[in-house]
Amino acid sequence: MMSTTTMAKASILAPSRQHFGSRVFDELGMERDPDNLYLQTIDAVLHAAEVLELPHHVQLILAQPKNEIMVHFPVLMDDGEYRLFKGYRVQHNNALGPYKGGLRYHPHVSLDDVKSLACLMTMKCSLVRIPYGGGKGGIKCDPRSLSTDELRRVTRRFVSAIAPQIGPDYDIPAPDVGTNAQVMAWFADTYMNITGGRDAHAVVTGKPVDFGGSLGREKATGQGVIDVLAELLPEVGLTIKGASASILGYGNVGSWAGKLWAERGGKVTAVYDHTGGVYNAQGLDTLALDEHVKKHGGVGGFEKEGRAQAISADEFYRVKVDVFIPAALEQMINTERANQLDCKVVAEAANAPTTPAGERILLERGVEILPAILCSAGGVTVSYFEWVQNKTHVTWDIERVDEELNRHMVLAARRTQLARHRFGVDMRTAAYIAALEQIGKVYALRGIFP
Ligand code: NAD
Repeated sequence: MMSTTTMAKASILAPSRQHFGSRVFDELGMERDPDNLYLQTIDAVLHAAEVLELPHHVQLILAQPKNEIMVHFPVLMDDGEYRLFKGYRVQHNNALGPYKGGLRYHPHVSLDDVKSLACLMTMKCSLVRIPYGGGKGGIKCDPRSLSTDELRRVTRRFVSAIAPQIGPDYDIPAPDVGTNAQVMAWFADTYMNITGGRDAHAVVTGKPVDFGGSLGREKATGQGVIDVLAELLPEVGLTIKGASASILGYGNVGSWAGKLWAERGGKVTAVYDHTGGVYNAQGLDTLALDEHVKKHGGVGGFEKEGRAQAISADEFYRVKVDVFIPAALEQMINTERANQLDCKVVAEAANAPTTPAGERILLERGVEILPAILCSAGGVTVSYFEWVQNKTHVTWDIERVDEELNRHMVLAARRTQLARHRFGVDMRTAAYIAALEQIGKVYALRGIFP
């Protein structure tokens, strides 16, 4: 175990690193745009690869996805008009196993964002040592503005467009922002009708439990965040019991992280989402807040139930807490927000929630950042358990799922700490190093075809 002094020393190293220093950017003709999420992601991965001295050809391979699939498809809307939708599936790397990663339905879905998220999936699966590569996909749409029938038709047309490029042994999607178990059920049903293959429902995970889903999948990402915090908080002199947290986003990941944090004796004092913010110094009722969000679509208005006061975004970010849990979208913790935060630890439950500039500020201020590829790996881990259950035609009970998830998360946390200790780097670089070590080993064993 590392001492707190070693951790603080390691944190100070990060800001001094040269950004976009890798020659891979020149070799691949990639711009050095500090605001582009894909380039930010690749820059951090390449930095870790250089610290690890990963062979140069593997760095080149990982700097670009293997396949970038873009489709356009028409869908009949409820008003009788046809609308054209744009969908993506990016397959970043499959050295360790089939491509794996979520599907996002959001108006801002773009190729570069999907590429970043696919790369993060490659790193995440490797860090938790599950036999998957990384992929990600999505449809540029606002699911909230679609009727249930429209959402089903959009999903079915998307599956038919990408069906030849995916499969239960090749590329396995899952839920992400704007999609859920119902969308996965339509996805699996469409794929089964198109291909009729054995175990074809294993083409997606995050399905409803009655249709091949795993117990514990819905809460898995939030639970993984809590497992990591339980393991690492003692390193900074904290325990969940009695500690305070604020949560950005109260969807699937944020609400489960909040409920499980409270269940273990922590207080959630502030929550903010796209509908507003709420605060209670004594701790919000996380279950009642979840009910409110399910009924009204967001946390806004919860204060009217008399158990919280409404707060603005600026007030939310300034609330003094032990742990801040971003569980909404990418790049929300920029320089302005990083300067406002008053916390000891940031546990990145969302993918890529912190910009490099925001990260520099937090590290300089001595805030510990537990990176997304570690904190948010619980979802894909239980997705893997679901796929194993589908493939072997057995079902696991919840105790087994919870226990196996905890084991994977704790080992990934220790692997990250160990890499930090060995290389004297910040936690994000350490997590990438721990992931890249495994990928490097497999490339060394497999070689490059032919
Ligand atoms: P979700 O759609 O259930 O919830 C998203 C949340 O973000 C909502 O509470 C929404 O209000 C909030 N949000 C959106 N825009 C916002 C804004 N401008 N300001 C404040 N809040 C805003 O999605 P989710 O599945 O909970 O995913 C959240 C994050 O976790 C994403 O980064 C996702 O990629 C990541 N993640 C999800 C899973 C999973 O299993 N669902 C797994 C790993 C990582």
